[in-house]
Amino acid sequence: MSFLSIFKDIFSVLYPHYCLGCGQILSPQLPFLCTSCLHELRETNFHLLSDEQNPMIRKFWGRVMIQKAAALLYYDKGTVSQRLIHALKYHDREEVGRWIAQWYAPKLKETDYFKGVDLVLPVPLHPKKKKKRGYNQVTLFASYIAQTLQVPYREDLLLKHTYNTAQAKKHWLERQRSSAEQLILTDPEAISARHVLIVDDIVTTGATLAQCATLLIGAGAQVSLVCMAYSNDE
Ligand SMILES: [Zn+2]
Repeated sequence: MSFLSIFKDIFSVLYPHYCLGCGQILSPQLPFLCTSCLHELRETNFHLLSDEQNPMIRKFWGRVMIQKAAALLYYDKGTVSQRLIHALKYHDREEVGRWIAQWYAPKLKETDYFKGVDLVLPVPLHPKKKKKRGYNQVTLFASYIAQTLQVPYREDLLLKHTYNTAQAKKHWLERQRSSAEQLILTDPEAISARHVLIVDDIVTTGATLAQCATLLIGAGAQVSLVCMAYSNDE
């Protein structure tokens, strides 16, 4: 037994960490999920399907032209995948994002699924939400994917702001109605004629991703999508 493993064992007794899926104490070798919860996760393998068979690409048919689309896991309510993503988004477990990327990025690289992509952008988080959460839950996942695909990663190009029609004298209810979240592309030239990979945590209705894609395509980009998880819900 090495000094390191003894240290790890002592550390795990003093500071046990728990499975994000079922709550049982984890052995120090397992970062977030126990073996049985790990086995419950279902991979989509969308990156191995043809475009016509790929449900994630089909989700955007008739809305916006998407080149390639993939997600690592199926997202189902009440299951381990939901608890894992919730821990990342709502319980300060930011490093779950990198862990998912370490699992997924080599598969994407190996199959050349996103060959031709030359820029990676995360779906932006509104500054207020980011301040409250302390981080954008997509950052570690997206930047690790970019690093593995060996393409630049930019967080400053696509931003989200609250758009206020300055009508301060109006009744507060009307004021609320008149404020909406707005996507901003800070430098359209930086994405023009590029193939951009937009990254998000979960794709459900696809509304946010479609909105981002439409903006980028309008500025002359081609768009592909990658998410941690895919939900069948519309
Ligand atoms: Zn478990």
